[in-house]
This record gives sequence, C-alpha cells and structure tokens, in this order.
Amino acid sequence: MSGPRVTVVGGGLAGISAALQCADAGARVTLVEVRPRLGGAVYSFERDGLLVDNGQHVFMRCCSAYRALLERIGATGSTTLQPRLEVPVIEPGGRVTTIRRGRLPAPLHLAATLARYRPLLPLKRAGAARAALALGRLDAADPALDLVTFGDWLARHGQGPTEAAALWDLIALAILNVRAAEASLGVAAFAFQTALLGDNTAGDIGFHERALSEVVGEPAERALRAAGVALRLSWRAEAVRAVAGGGGFVVAGERGDPLAADAVVMALPPTRAAAVLPAGAIANPERLMALGSSPIVNVHVIYERPVTDLAFVGGLGTPVQYVFDRTRAAGVEAGQYLAVSVSGADAEMAMTPEALRVRYESALAELFPRALATRVERFLVTREHAATFRATPGSAALRPGPRTALAGLALAGAWTATGWPATMEGAVRSGQAAAREALSAVGSAEAVGVAA
Ligand SMILES: Cc1cc2nc3c(=O)[nH]c(=O)nc-3n(C[C@H](O)[C@H](O)[C@H](O)COP(=O)(O)OP(=O)(O)OC[C@H]3O[C@@H](n4cnc5c(N)ncnc54)[C@H](O)[C@@H]3O)c2cc1C
Repeated sequence: MSGPRVTVVGGGLAGISAALQCADAGARVTLVEVRPRLGGAVYSFERDGLLVDNGQHVFMRCCSAYRALLERIGATGSTTLQPRLEVPVIEPGGRVTTIRRGRLPAPLHLAATLARYRPLLPLKRAGAARAALALGRLDAADPALDLVTFGDWLARHGQGPTEAAALWDLIALAILNVRAAEASLGVAAFAFQTALLGDNTAGDIGFHERALSEVVGEPAERALRAAGVALRLSWRAEAVRAVAGGGGFVVAGERGDPLAADAVVMALPPTRAAAVLPAGAIANPERLMALGSSPIVNVHVIYERPVTDLAFVGGLGTPVQYVFDRTRAAGVEAGQYLAVSVSGADAEMAMTPEALRVRYESALAELFPRALATRVERFLVTREHAATFRATPGSAALRPGPRTALAGLALAGAWTATGWPATMEGAVRSGQAAAREALSAVGSAEAVGVAA
C-alpha cells in the first residue's frame, strides 16, 4: 500500500467516521482508542446478565450522515425509524397527548397537532404556533443569535415558563441537553429548523433496537477492520508532535512505539484534545475548556411485570423527561425494563442512587398506575457528567472548525463547529469534515475524489 499514513485519535463516532472515510480514500489508517471498545459516548455494558446502555440515544430522519454510517457498518437493520413523527406525552394521572406530524409541507405538518395539544390552553397553542413560525424565519448562522438565550427570545415572543415547560423544553432538553432558558438561540434555532420546521419528514425519530454497543461499536469495529484500518484499543494517546520541516506527525502514547503519520485526525473530547494537541495548533486552546459540559443521567428500572404499553413517551409535570421500554433490546425475558432519560441533569448528578430511586420510582408510579402494585426487581443509575458541551450563549464562538494551524492535523468531535448540537449526527459530520481536511493537506482528497 502506498497511500498516506493517517492516524485517527479517538474511537467515538467522529473517529470511526474519519477513519472509514480515510481508508475508503486509500489512506493507510491507524485508529487509537483509550478504551477497549469503540463507540465513545455511545455504548452499553453488561451488568449481571443485563445489557445496559450508558444513556438512551435517538436520532432523526434528518440525521443523514449518521444514518449513512449505520448503513456503511451494516447496522441499519438494528434500528427503526418512525414512518411519521409520533411522540406520546404523559402527565401524572396518566393522561396521554400525542404529538404527531401530518402530511402537509413543513411547518404546516405540525399545525393540527399543536392546535389539539392539551397540555397548553387553546389561546397559548396559537401563541406557540406564532413563535414557532418566527423561529423558523431566523438566520441560525447569524453570530448575533449566539449572544442571547433561547429563553429570552421565547419570552419576547410571548412564551413564558408555562409554554417552556409544556412544549419548548420537551424538545430543547432532548436535542440540546440544556433547558430553553439556558440554551444559545443560535443552536436552538438551527436544531428546531433542521428537525421540525424545515422538512416535514425530518423529525421522524429513529431508535436503536438492540444494545448500543451491538448497534454501533461492534459493527464499526468489524467495518474498520474490513476496510484495512489498524486498531490500537486500550491505548492512550498522550501527545501529538509535529515533525520539523513538514515531516508529518508523531502520536505518542502511554506504551509502545510512537506512531508516525503524514496526517492526524484528533477526535477526542474537548478537554482531552486541549491536552494532547501540539502547541500552536489552535489559537487559545483554553477555549476548549470554556465550552463546559452538560450531564445526562439515566435511571434503569426493571419491573417484575409490564407496567405500560408505551414503548417511548415524554413526561410533563414530572421529573421523568423521557421513558424508553428497553425490555427486548436488553435481552430481558420476563418483566419490563424501563429506562428514564434525564437531560440537563445537573441536579440529578448530585443525588445519591437511593434518592434517585425514591424520586423516580414514585414519579413512574404517578404516570403508570400499574407500577404502584408491581415489584421493582432491579434499579440502577448511569451518569455521564460530560455528555455534551454546554450549548449556552457564546458556545458557537468557542467551537473550532476541522482546520488547525498545522497542515495535516485536523480536529473532529461533536463539539467542533458543525452547526449541529452535540449529537451523533454532528460527530459523524465532524469526522468526515476532518478526514477531508487531513487528506487534502497530504494531497489525497482530490486524487481519490473525496466529496466535499
Ligand atoms: C447519555 C448520553 C445520551 C445521549 N443522547 C443522544 C441522543 O439521543 N442523540 C444524539 O444524537 N446524541 C446523543 N448524545 C450525544 C452523542 O453521543 C455524542 O455527541 C457523540 O457520540 C460524540 O461522539 P464523538 O466521537 O465526538 O466523541 P466521543 O464519543 O466522546 O469519542 C471520543 C473518544 O476518544 C477517546 N479518548 C479520550 N481520550 C483519549 C486518549 N487520550 N487517547 C485515545 N482515545 C481517547 C474516548 O474514549 C472516546 O472513545 C448523548 C450522549 C450521552 C453521553
């Protein structure tokens, strides 16, 4: 083989995508990952026979790059995509209202469901519709939108705490991992426009029907090996150095020989990237720290018998944000396994497992009365303290693009400047952009026709 040598540092979705793209372009690729498995923030683990996802992950029809990656690694069959957006929303007492898109072009596809949305009084539904139309007209790429919160903008459009709690936070927390009150207007406008206001099919939701590692990490590892990518798992990259005179790069790790490469894609979380990048690669590496982080907590409850027929439901007026039935995906044969996903979970991060158990078992019983009389067989909590960067005002300005000051060294990660919030789609897009950048610096992108 004679293609350029590319080292990809980090085996999350960004690194996986970059490595596949470079290998497909004829590069000799090595991917290094500190953990013994691939998938990064998207993974599952086994606990006493139960397959537990670190946190519930959904995607949407508009996540074209992530869906193409699933196809590339042969995992589409382990996912499902709603034929039409449908989100049941449950309130204490059990009342369910379903948000369902219609067939009209966007944004009219949501008009009928909003007009019948019982958690808001009729007058407030019309106000929410007017605000949604105004949100759709914003220029999400305008840097001025990154200076204000989505919450302030909503308030100026007649959307107070009632509307935020009943409608806007239901979506903002799930997509941005912060509440509307805290979110940057720029990334919120992008997310709502892309998912809900631009194309009537964009927001149809995709689910992983098996444990996350079975859908992402393991198939990705097989696809990378089949593409000729050399994998160094359980290998921590400690420093990337530029070789003087434009002689490429060296990636040094905790053990073994350093890796020599013509180009490097750094696909690490922002704080790790700041520590591993060579001096001078980006201006103010401390700005990566300033991106901050936002946590996600998942509460996993296994009941002796099924307590709800709903496979997926959002919650209002309850600490339960979203519930997913993971019984089949996790291989549970008797009873029902519900996973409660809590985004923007700063308060829950500080709670003990016992306190979380009290809070969520009683909240679930308020939503699903059958749970009151059903024994909980197992209860566990997963916490991701830095699940995403904190998408607050100023964050867009802190996100660097793939290009660094050193030709051949490119940055990837859901936190880089993709325009997308920190999502699987953003990670895949960032990996592809970094691969293009790295390959073009070593004169390879044009030669092999890597599409821009
Ligand atoms: C609980 C949870 C729920 C989420 N829900 C959703 C959702 O529903 N929908 C959605 O689209 N997104 C969701 N996300 C966000 C999504 O998972 C991430 O944005 C995306 O997976 C990030 O991918 P990445 O490759 O940029 O980073 P990461 O996945 O963080 O990958 C970075 C990799 O670098 C490795 N690494 C770190 N240091 C080193 C080192 N020194 N040397 C070598 N390797 C190193 C890490 O081990 C990791 O594998 C969720 C995230 C979490 C945590």
